[in-house]
Amino acid sequence: MLLPSTAACCDAWVKFSQTLTSNLLLNAKFPPVILRLAEPEQRLDTCIEFTVRGYPHPKLRWFYKQREILQNEYIRTDMDFYQDYLEGCLTFQNPTHINNGNYTLEASNPLGTVTKTVYGHFLMAPDDNDPPSDSGRPEEDTFGVSIAVGLAGFACVVLLLVFVLINKYGRRSKFGMKGPVAVISGEEDSASPLHHVNHGIITPCTLDAGPDAVVIGMTRIPVVENPQYFRHGHNCNKPATLVQHIKRRDIILKRELGEGAFGKVFLAECYNLSPTKDKMLVAVKTLKDPNLSARKDFQREAELLTNLQHDHIVKFYGVCVDGDPLIMVFEYMKHGDLNKFLRAHGPDAMILVDGQPLQSNGELGLSQMLHIATQISSGMVYLASQHFVHRDLATRNCLVGNGLLVKIGDFGMSRDIYSSDYYRVGGHTMLPVRWMPPESIMYRKFSTESDVWSFGVILWEIFTYGKQPWFQLGNNEVIECITQGRVLERPRICPKEVYDIMLGCWQREPQQRLNIKDMQKVLFAMGKATPVYLDILG
Ligand code: AMP
Repeated sequence: MLLPSTAACCDAWVKFSQTLTSNLLLNAKFPPVILRLAEPEQRLDTCIEFTVRGYPHPKLRWFYKQREILQNEYIRTDMDFYQDYLEGCLTFQNPTHINNGNYTLEASNPLGTVTKTVYGHFLMAPDDNDPPSDSGRPEEDTFGVSIAVGLAGFACVVLLLVFVLINKYGRRSKFGMKGPVAVISGEEDSASPLHHVNHGIITPCTLDAGPDAVVIGMTRIPVVENPQYFRHGHNCNKPATLVQHIKRRDIILKRELGEGAFGKVFLAECYNLSPTKDKMLVAVKTLKDPNLSARKDFQREAELLTNLQHDHIVKFYGVCVDGDPLIMVFEYMKHGDLNKFLRAHGPDAMILVDGQPLQSNGELGLSQMLHIATQISSGMVYLASQHFVHRDLATRNCLVGNGLLVKIGDFGMSRDIYSSDYYRVGGHTMLPVRWMPPESIMYRKFSTESDVWSFGVILWEIFTYGKQPWFQLGNNEVIECITQGRVLERPRICPKEVYDIMLGCWQREPQQRLNIKDMQKVLFAMGKATPVYLDILG
């Protein structure tokens, strides 16, 4: 059944609710198991992460120094409920050495109680930095200790000198990355042709760029530029949007989160960003080897992101351009990209305990899948209202935060790690053909309707726990299939009503495809009609 209108969508929802009642599968009851209680990384984490299985959902209590921790504004439990497990954090507000110590988690349900303890070492106590006392040490060690302390002192002085010299004369990046010192400024090289990167595609800022093309089978694939970027307030002549600038000294890098086509992505602490907190965790994207045109792209991307603000679009805080590398600062989405998240919560995912595969991470249930889809569609409704065509919607470009919060999180930087999802045509151009409708593949036509097609593929990814669309086919075969009108099959666990929505996204004629606003409403209603503790067999 196809769903060309809101009425048809509602009809689908009514049927869906009926299907629900006939296909209910109650979860088996079992006692709690604490699958994971992670020691917080010193100076980095402000939470103790846990995963607890059990059904009915266990009640959790925390103990510190033999006393139960009462939740308050400084310590609280944040968690997400999945089908038969809980995942979350005992979160601390600015923990210090005073919070160091053993933390015991107790999980109980009517079938049993378990406890597990972990040592939380948040910050070194001020006197931990002092050299250890030698009391009780044999006398002959004292000399060795003095030499070691002396050498350490000397090393510190040398390091300090090197650091001062590097800061004064060095051109090397603070983060150990090479590249010229780059500063974005509005008047730089205004005569040079602007270039723009979208989806890793660098294209001249002109609407009539030469249509390079390659031919695959019977299909001519144009090399794609993205004129959309320059319409509706994103044109070349528009005065620059005011992008917030963040000082480099306010950004403290913590660890690498991933790598995109532009450069590495790091978890960092950022000071003076929020009026209510002195520092907060952020994700920073670095731009490697910025030449002039890459810097222009960077500037354009920053302006675009500054203009896009919505609950389901990743929050962009600003740029740091006082030095090298160039940095974009985003809100930190704890669970990373949605594709990885889906795979980690699929039937094949295992949790490693002491290096050994032990139990499944816990599969996402139908209500969670619908919740994820609803949030992405809501971000898309916003993008459509801004007349913004994304052109690369896929689960790899969405991010997952606490509480199963999902946002569209990437506007063109993920081609490196997921390079097999793209098809290279004409040199640098990489096309996400598996997510593209026939008119985009054949005539490089991109529109809100082509984004709707991609959304159908996102639904398919969600209901297959992150499988690659057409995984069994090579890129050339995929192109042949799509242009000949074949569509992806219904995933095993996908209810028919949801597959009907996918089919509504994959109508060959763009105008016949479902409207994103209607789809958002239907998915929302379906999600509400699906209790969290029930599962559906497709
Ligand atoms: P990207 O360059 O956007 O493709 O990012 C590369 C990888 O970094 C992604 O696949 C994510 O795992 C991670 N990442 C990117 N942005 C964020 C963010 N805002 N929060 C957390 N992880 C992120």
